[in-house]
Amino acid sequence: MLQSKLPHVGTTIFTRMSQLATEVGALNLSQGFPDFASPQPLLDAAMRHLAAGHNQYAPMTGLPRLREQVALKVAGLYGRAVSAESEVTIVPGATEAIFCAVQALIRPGDEAIVLDPCYDSYEPSVQLAGGRCVHVPLNLPDFSVGWQRLRDAITPRTRLIFINSPHNPSGALLSRADLDQLAALIRDRDIYLISDEVYEHLVFDGAEHASVLAHDELYARALVVSSFGKTYHVTGWKTGYVVAPPVLSAELRKIHQYVNFCGVTPLQHALADFMAEQPQHIVELPAFYQAKRDLFCDQLAGSRFTFTRSPGTYFQLADYSAIRPDLDDVAMSEWLTREHGVAAIPVSVFYQQAPADMRLVRFCFAKREETLLAAGELLCRI
Ligand code: PMP
Ligand code: GLN
Repeated sequence: MLQSKLPHVGTTIFTRMSQLATEVGALNLSQGFPDFASPQPLLDAAMRHLAAGHNQYAPMTGLPRLREQVALKVAGLYGRAVSAESEVTIVPGATEAIFCAVQALIRPGDEAIVLDPCYDSYEPSVQLAGGRCVHVPLNLPDFSVGWQRLRDAITPRTRLIFINSPHNPSGALLSRADLDQLAALIRDRDIYLISDEVYEHLVFDGAEHASVLAHDELYARALVVSSFGKTYHVTGWKTGYVVAPPVLSAELRKIHQYVNFCGVTPLQHALADFMAEQPQHIVELPAFYQAKRDLFCDQLAGSRFTFTRSPGTYFQLADYSAIRPDLDDVAMSEWLTREHGVAAIPVSVFYQQAPADMRLVRFCFAKREETLLAAGELLCRI
C-alpha cells in the first residue's frame, strides 16, 4: 500500500466550490479569478507572439526582456535597484514559486511559521520538504499580527516565516511599521522570509502597499513572490515572478529548473510588451478594483451580512451570524451556493484551527458589474 506523503490533503476548497457553483448554476464568487475579459492589447500580443513562432523553451530564469520589465517596475515602485540577471526569476505561477522557495529553504526538522488564516499551498510545501508548520493566528477582527504570539512561536528550529500582504482571505495590509517589527524579531536569527505579494497592486482607500522590496533589512533574507495572473487579469496564464537577492535566487533556480524548467514563452513575450506599452495599467488597478469592492459592498449593505470594507485584494469577508449562526462556514458556503445561487469560500479552511464561533465567508469581487449586482440582489433576499 502506498503511504500518502500528504495524508490529510484532499481536493482544495477552491476546486470544490467552483465545481459546485457550475453544477448548480450559481454565481461563482468563490475561487478568486476575474469573470471579465483580459486587456485586449495583452491578448493581441500573445497571439502575435504565437504566430511569430515564439513557441520553444524560454530561458530557465525567464525571458530577459520580461525580467527587465520587472526590474524596472521594482525600481519605480519600491525604489530598489535589482539585477534582472541575478535577482529576478520568471516562474509558471506564484504557487510554483512558493513551492520551490520552500524546498530551497526548509530541511527535514525545520519549522516554518505561518500566520493563520493562510493560503492553502504553504503547509503542504513545507511538509514535502520534511519540515513542520507552526501556526500563529492573526488577531481578530482586523487580522493584524500578534507580535508577542509570533515572538513566542520562534524556536531554534525556525527557518522560515511566511507573510502575505495584501492578505488572502481577509484583505488586511501589513504596514511599514509591521515590517520593522518583523525585522527586529528575526534580526540575529537564521530565519528567512517568503513574502507573498501577489495582490501587491490591489490596495484601496489611498493606502500604499508596504513591500518587502522597499525594506533593505528584510529584503536581504527574503524571496518576494508576485503573480502576473492577478495584476493583468490572466490567472489562467499561471505566470509569476520572484525577486530575491542573488544567493537566494540561485538556490530557488536550482529547484525551479527541475520542477518546471521555465515558464510559457509566448506569454512571457506578451507580458513584456504589455508592461512596456501600458505602464498605466498598474496605476489604474487600485481604483478599478476599489470601484468593484464598493459596488459589491453597497449591495451587501442592504443584506443581513455584516462586514468592514476590504482594505486590499479582490476578496471581501462577510459575517453571517445574523443569518444562519447554526451553520459552520463550510455548510454555510454550500447552503449559499445551493439554496441562494451565490458561491463563497469558507474562511475556516485557511486555518489549522479556526475559532469555533467564527462565522465568516469570503466573496471574490473580481467580477463584472452585472455579476456583482446580481449577486448582491440574491444576497439581500436571504
Ligand atoms: N498566493 C496567494 C495568497 C494567492 O491568493 C494565490 C492565488 N491563488 C497564489 C499565491 C497563487 O498565484 P498563482 O495563480 O500565480 O499561482
Ligand atoms: N488564490 C485563489 C483563491 O484564493 C485560488 C487559486 C486556486 O484555485 N488554487 O481563491
